[in-house]
Amino acid sequence: MNSPTESWRALPAAQQPPWPDQTELRAATEWLSAVPPLVFAAECDLLRRRMAAVARGEAVLLQGGDCAETFERVTADAIRGKLRTLLQMAVVLTYATAMPVVKIGRMAGQYAKPRSSPVERRDGTELPSYRGDAVNGLEFTAEARRPDPWRMRRMYESSAMTLNLVRALTTGGFADLRQVHAWNRGFVADSRAGERYEKLTDEIERSLAFMQACGVDTGELGTAEFFVGHEGLLLDYESALTRAEPDTDRTYATSGHLLWIGERTRDLGGAHVEYFSRVHNPIAVKLGPTTTPDTVLGLVDRLDPRREPGRLTFVVRAGADRVRDVLPDLIEKVTAEGALVCWVSDPMHGNTVTAPSGHKTRSFDTILDEVRGFVEVHRELGTHPGGVHVELTGDDVTECVGGGNAVLPENLHHRYETACDPRLNHTQSLDLAFLLAEMYRD
Ligand code: PEP
Ligand code: MN
Repeated sequence: MNSPTESWRALPAAQQPPWPDQTELRAATEWLSAVPPLVFAAECDLLRRRMAAVARGEAVLLQGGDCAETFERVTADAIRGKLRTLLQMAVVLTYATAMPVVKIGRMAGQYAKPRSSPVERRDGTELPSYRGDAVNGLEFTAEARRPDPWRMRRMYESSAMTLNLVRALTTGGFADLRQVHAWNRGFVADSRAGERYEKLTDEIERSLAFMQACGVDTGELGTAEFFVGHEGLLLDYESALTRAEPDTDRTYATSGHLLWIGERTRDLGGAHVEYFSRVHNPIAVKLGPTTTPDTVLGLVDRLDPRREPGRLTFVVRAGADRVRDVLPDLIEKVTAEGALVCWVSDPMHGNTVTAPSGHKTRSFDTILDEVRGFVEVHRELGTHPGGVHVELTGDDVTECVGGGNAVLPENLHHRYETACDPRLNHTQSLDLAFLLAEMYRD
């Protein structure tokens, strides 16, 4: 029970599915314990070094992807679309910040969701809530909503399929900087806000031409370094995929490069903090508007006891109306403690509202305002606004309102496809990148 993979079992674990059949659960986790890892220790160590640069103010993080991936949407088009969006955003941010942008997909493992209520009621019928494709089905029927531990096998397989394509695309020419820039040119030409972005795209173009004219070897520009991460919510899944490195005494979660603990499961005395304290990956923790400095200092002590830059990232999701009040104290206390963590803004989860149509939505302007508040606070304190963590897709969905293509509240039903929270569509994601670029340059 004191092994790195099992010590969490002695503690209360929030948000775990009520698996109906323990024998099946055991069989499924035994299957997972025997399969190859999805990621390797050396890759996790490399990401730790990249995140250390973010912590020191020498790089910026861009993390994004679906709120909830679904098995059905593990398609070449959907994966390519998300990757393309993130690569396009990264080029804009790299140019504007003149720093490396660390790219992490919220992909290849984002299949489990914490829920505010264990049950969902519709027209007088009550069923268990949807907890992500790793646990049960989205369809509102008793059969679909019954948790099935064998879905964790499909989570592993879907993650493997996604990662396989991501690895192929990022090294096989798709991520070539010149191609990504050409996509951005197309976006700017078609965009209503295009004029505002044109100057930046022109500058990038000139820089590329300059490098070429100087004879800079552009081989490096043909590939992209890309990592994947997800919320490490299902401890049965994560611990079954935890592997010890034979040559060191280190243990790694091998389900993704970076895992994070959600706002609802970051109890200092809880199972998630215990499990995360035992793995050597770079890790993150979400911080909502009610987070106290004591909690944050407790998290630093438990998760980054040696104060190693790159180990721990705090993802702040306080809400646009709270971030300017809540964040300064947290940053100051952590800095005074001697910890060099990464501070990242999640401008999505503190800004979710219900539209008159009943759709869960977020407004582009509010999202932007939270990022602006986050950057302002860091500027004021002289600390580094380490980047953003957003929910997005490469498709033209209508889930968040506003942005350059102005999704209206009355049009949310046109393409509202998310299995959980509303995502920025392709255009809104690029709008965000260009506006963020302006903020970083100011
Ligand atoms: C999420 O990232 O989808 C999520 C549930 O976030 P949080 O833990 O911040 O509520
Ligand atoms: Mn979400």
